[in-house]
Amino acid sequence: MAARLAAGWTPSPLHAFVLKVHSRCDLACDYCYMYRARDGSWRDQPRVMAPGVVERTAERIAEHLDAHGLTEAGVVLHGGEPLLMGDAALAAAARTLRAAAGDRVRLHLSVQTNGVRLTERRLDLLAEHGIQVGVSVDGGRAAHDRHRRGADGRGSHARVAAALRLLTDGPHRALFNGLLCTVDLRNDPVRTYEALLAHRPPSVDFLLPLGNWDAPPPGLGRARGPATPYADWLWAVFERWYATPEPSTRVRILDDLMALLLGATPDTEGLGLSPVRYAVVETDGSLAQDDTLRTAYHGATRTGLDVHRHDFDALVRHPGIAARQWGAEGLCAECRACPLHPVCGAGHYATRYRHDTGFANPSVYCADLAALVRRVRGRLASDLAPVTAARPPTPEAA
Ligand code: SF4
Ligand code: SF4
Repeated sequence: MAARLAAGWTPSPLHAFVLKVHSRCDLACDYCYMYRARDGSWRDQPRVMAPGVVERTAERIAEHLDAHGLTEAGVVLHGGEPLLMGDAALAAAARTLRAAAGDRVRLHLSVQTNGVRLTERRLDLLAEHGIQVGVSVDGGRAAHDRHRRGADGRGSHARVAAALRLLTDGPHRALFNGLLCTVDLRNDPVRTYEALLAHRPPSVDFLLPLGNWDAPPPGLGRARGPATPYADWLWAVFERWYATPEPSTRVRILDDLMALLLGATPDTEGLGLSPVRYAVVETDGSLAQDDTLRTAYHGATRTGLDVHRHDFDALVRHPGIAARQWGAEGLCAECRACPLHPVCGAGHYATRYRHDTGFANPSVYCADLAALVRRVRGRLASDLAPVTAARPPTPEAA
């Protein structure tokens, strides 16, 4: 770390904060990285973030934004299921966060919910406090209910679809932040995408199922093979999306991939080399690394820091976070040598894990990422070729 600082690494300040306001859930999804992963530390966490922890967190956020001259930031009220926090506590948290940030800061508050508790009354409350709503849904009923079920085995699709109708058809449509969908290779990609589009979301985020070299995702083995089922799945979505763009729906992974191929640097995780700029605060005020690292080993998210004793600058200097701000220098030798790394970025950090080499590996999705990047690059190149050819020669080229 000292060497990195001496070599001129300047930590990037945080501009997004994930607050685990409730550490339990009312669903029992079978792929959940909170409750089904190797790390079971959620059991040690209080169920709800206490008002004192919310206050201290709000002060720390305000202090961090002020110290770095930031006037805009995002705060995601997360869980478990954040709506289990209760309406009064949720409203109080929103007030506390906004009051601490003050008028100078544009604070984007949102909840990421499984949707089953979204009622008209709750939407009124979220609207009153300017809290945007992101909903997790995996496509149509069969796709969704295969994984996203309650402890009683009952699928949640009907409840989520009803909640989405309330959100999208009524007066609260402006609160709709978008949909999160976890990819399952058994689902038809285009049908899944179209089922999501039926909710007219402003954005769709496709998440690859978490896995790593020790515990590969469904459909991938421990050894690298020629098959690229996830690239094939996303390519099918790409072709539908590219041929018939939905002007009002952003598909984040594809937008970001295109942006990276065109030389932009979207602030995204899972692709590219942008520094990680978000923090996770547990219900007891612990400052944690990304929840997805729970899939690696028990305790992987712990930093030993908390909002009571440490500021967010201390978190950014934590080796686990800092290493994710080093761009290409934070990658393993194989990825640094790979010509695709500026776009691929070695994939999601959690997917690089292997017990003997830690996170210094390519992603377990390496073959899929490489195939997807190449295919999209090829499509872009062929579509841009006539434009490039028609351009008048530059003075140097003439
Ligand atoms: S809704 Fe989210 S937190 Fe709850 S069980 Fe499902 S994946 Fe886990
Ligand atoms: S994960 Fe694979 S495709 Fe991506 S940068 Fe590393 S070696 Fe290249």
